[in-house]
Amino acid sequence: MIWLTGGNVYDVAQGKFEQKAIGIRDGRIEALTAGPTPATGDRVIDMSGSWLLPGLIDCHVHLTLNPDVTGTAAFGARSRERIRQDTADAAARTLEGGITTVRDCGGWDYLEMEVRDEVRAGTLPGPRMFLSGRLISIETPGAADYWGMYDFAQTAEELKAAAERQMAKGADFIKIMVTGMFLAPETERAEDCYYSNDELSALVHHSHDHGRHVACHAHAIEGIRLAIAAGVDSLEHGTYADRGALAAMAKAGIVLVPTCTVMSAMIENPTIRAKMPDYLIARYENARTLHREAMIAACAEGVPLVMGTDAGAPGNHHGANAQECVRMVRDVGMTPAEAIRAATLGGAALLGQADSLGSLEPGKFADIVAARSNPLDDIAALQRLHFVMKDGAIVRHDA
Ligand SMILES: [Zn+2]
Repeated sequence: MIWLTGGNVYDVAQGKFEQKAIGIRDGRIEALTAGPTPATGDRVIDMSGSWLLPGLIDCHVHLTLNPDVTGTAAFGARSRERIRQDTADAAARTLEGGITTVRDCGGWDYLEMEVRDEVRAGTLPGPRMFLSGRLISIETPGAADYWGMYDFAQTAEELKAAAERQMAKGADFIKIMVTGMFLAPETERAEDCYYSNDELSALVHHSHDHGRHVACHAHAIEGIRLAIAAGVDSLEHGTYADRGALAAMAKAGIVLVPTCTVMSAMIENPTIRAKMPDYLIARYENARTLHREAMIAACAEGVPLVMGTDAGAPGNHHGANAQECVRMVRDVGMTPAEAIRAATLGGAALLGQADSLGSLEPGKFADIVAARSNPLDDIAALQRLHFVMKDGAIVRHDA
């Protein structure tokens, strides 16, 4: 048994810290008590002055993408070995940043599955991974640069077959694109919808029949409405969502993954910005303002939001994922407690793992992080974690 003693332990449901001791055995939390009751042979770690929270869950990453590779063609020009190494590095950094679970919304030719297997076997460090495999889309002008990421499908039958290909490779959920990527060329028509309601519904039903949830990428309002009508489980980005669509999402319990970080990471980075064409800078500047307004409206409508960064996109670094929590508070106006809930229990619920992840409770996995100051006072404390534990094993514990 390991005891973490003297720390302030966060209760996600209550939204408050209380000084408690956490007893951990066989990778799980066994006890949560006012004071430790160590037996002979137990290891006691003094966490006095620390603020302990459940490990963070990022529900939208791309571990196979290297955010420092600029120019979309360069993503696909990497060798398989290089992509595998980038993925392993991304997994290690993500975990060190306190992200103990990720949902990867588009890998690269299933190399992320190999890395997941190694993480599970304990030969590589990394978070728990829920993977989509390739993302499903129609063939678009920008797709050629991302050849390892896409699986093309158009009709309902093709969509079902594409979903089955991902499941056969070990996908935990299905990722579908219904509008453009937004990174794509000027000729990309962001408002175009890729599928009909019948086609998308067929994919959703088929995925659900196989026990997989469906994440749907949509920026434009037409795509957002389509996704809601088809009954997807989560909507990614939601840039042009309007009040009516958000109310329908809230009613249907569809989760919104805002990915506030992705556009800001690009246009706030001078190196990346200098390399971007003017039309793309204008597109993002405009979209970022609209996106913020949509996310504020989503909160007002009661849409469940979870944390997702789109880490791996240009300038959006693996391991810096907690910046999304800061943006949820600073840009969207969520309280720190709401942002923490989105980044813990909210993500666990979307993944169907609320029984084992997302809060510090007996029986759950011992995925625990610690900050040096109270994140309810300043959410940026999550960007300076000094302790990360996954499965009851200490990943880092800085002096
Ligand atoms: Zn993404």
